[in-house]
Amino acid sequence: MKVFYSSEYVGSAYAFETTRKAKWVADSLARVPIPGIVLVEPPLLTWEQLVAVHDPAYVRAVQTGIPRHLAESQGFDWDPGLWPMVLSSNGGVVAAALEALQTGLAGSLSSGLHHARRGSGAGFCTFNGLVIAAREALAAGAESILILDLDAHCGGGTASLIAGDPRIRQVDVAVNSFDVYSSSAAGDPGGRHVRLRVVQDGDRYLSEIEKELEEIEREGPRFDLCLYNAGMDPFEGCSTGGMKGISHDTLAARERLVCAWCRDRIPAVAFVLAGGYIGWGLDAGGLVALHRLTLAAAAGAISVPGSGSPTDRPPGAAAGRARDAETRGSDGES
Ligand SMILES: [Zn+2]
Repeated sequence: MKVFYSSEYVGSAYAFETTRKAKWVADSLARVPIPGIVLVEPPLLTWEQLVAVHDPAYVRAVQTGIPRHLAESQGFDWDPGLWPMVLSSNGGVVAAALEALQTGLAGSLSSGLHHARRGSGAGFCTFNGLVIAAREALAAGAESILILDLDAHCGGGTASLIAGDPRIRQVDVAVNSFDVYSSSAAGDPGGRHVRLRVVQDGDRYLSEIEKELEEIEREGPRFDLCLYNAGMDPFEGCSTGGMKGISHDTLAARERLVCAWCRDRIPAVAFVLAGGYIGWGLDAGGLVALHRLTLAAAAGAISVPGSGSPTDRPPGAAAGRARDAETRGSDGES
């Protein structure tokens, strides 16, 4: 399984988890590999790919830093490293989507950036990689795409960008009402195109996700690709978004649930990291361990078509041992 990553992913001078943790996860994989995962550098996003989703004036502002209020509309300081960072990290989401269409499964250590709008950034999200990747997948021949967003916060930017395009649907289970939206505001009065549920009780987190997955299954759509925004910020120790009752084990179970659900229903899956923030209840090592749950579940639980691929085998001894270690929350680091 290819997982896209480049040192450009962390090239912005503004340092916080979203602009740094891809390297933390990549370094962790170098020290303690997950069997079957290969890190690959993605092509940079092109101008054309960006302006297919975002306003050219906004794209130019991020490129040049002018006007500054627009260049910093996502909420952090602009510097010249921001432009190559977003071309690379969003390019990684596109590369993962296209790779998944070919092989069945891929990922990127970048985030989905689901708050970004057409004409501005929001909530620390500069460009909406999920929607850019969805549009590129459609151009590559996919006909129907599911964006499954399990970040702690609501994906209002994504909802605004896919409004009116019935080929892209979103299932969004959040635990925090930041960037909340209504399906009617997203051009979907019947609630079939975007489904948003904001969980109020951490003990019901998994069952509410299951309900949403059952609901969309009942409607019976066929998807060619799932883009999974695998936020870890629902974790109860997260400084932003965390909800009491959602533990490391809860999120391990969530990743197994999502992988199994996708494996049985959707031929291609591409995942990205999304939210996850250190604070009083979570250090950098703990955050990396949480994101490794997604990688481990994908590497062990979803088979890839074709023979000879290291990810083609069913979960066997090596993958099983790795998965058990991930589930215990240890990647061998202190
Ligand atoms: Zn979030």
